[in-house]
Amino acid sequence: MSEARAVIIPVTPFAQNCTLVWSEPGKRGAVIDPGGDLAEIERAIEQNGVTVEKIWLTHGHVDHASGAAELKERLRVPIEGPHRADLFLLQNLVETARAFGIAGARNVTPDRWLDQGDRISVDDLAFDVLHCPGHSPGSVVLFNAQQRFAIVGDVLFSGSIGRSDLPGGDQRTLIASIKTKLLPLGDDVSFICGHGPTSTIGHERATNPFLQ
Ligand SMILES: [Zn+2]
Ligand SMILES: [Zn+2]
Repeated sequence: MSEARAVIIPVTPFAQNCTLVWSEPGKRGAVIDPGGDLAEIERAIEQNGVTVEKIWLTHGHVDHASGAAELKERLRVPIEGPHRADLFLLQNLVETARAFGIAGARNVTPDRWLDQGDRISVDDLAFDVLHCPGHSPGSVVLFNAQQRFAIVGDVLFSGSIGRSDLPGGDQRTLIASIKTKLLPLGDDVSFICGHGPTSTIGHERATNPFLQ
């Protein structure tokens, strides 16, 4: 059984936590949310000696998905995720990126949409897909049950939750997603979020002001 490793590469003016996750000893991996700054991402891939086999997207926002199409071309790997409900965001990345000053953005057509209950993998690292709408309608969380960690995108943050004032967002839906899908994963589960420091489900359950 492989062990999972991960490094965070902050990308775009939004300091979005692009994450490179891979197996040890196999060193086969996935890039999650390559929003931009592909040179930084490729440097991390090279430094860690990882063979990237997949690109995974947690949702369709500009800081998470804008670099995915170009990275796919460079690495010749498929894009998996997010949920189909974020199609309208992925089709407008070029226009949105221009407004935010993110260079080199391209619209994205995933090779595979993800849905609740799906399972994706690299090497023998498997991630269960949880559809968690509310921040965006097509947000997904990726959960590695074996090593008890999750990649949550902008659904949940350390001490906060994702914003819900963007197109397709809804705060009640977001809080319901967190309470019905993330909190039941267990207090010991740690997570990497789209912005800011990592945390654990237990810490957020006890202290996050949006979940009390
Ligand atoms: Zn977002
Ligand atoms: Zn974000």
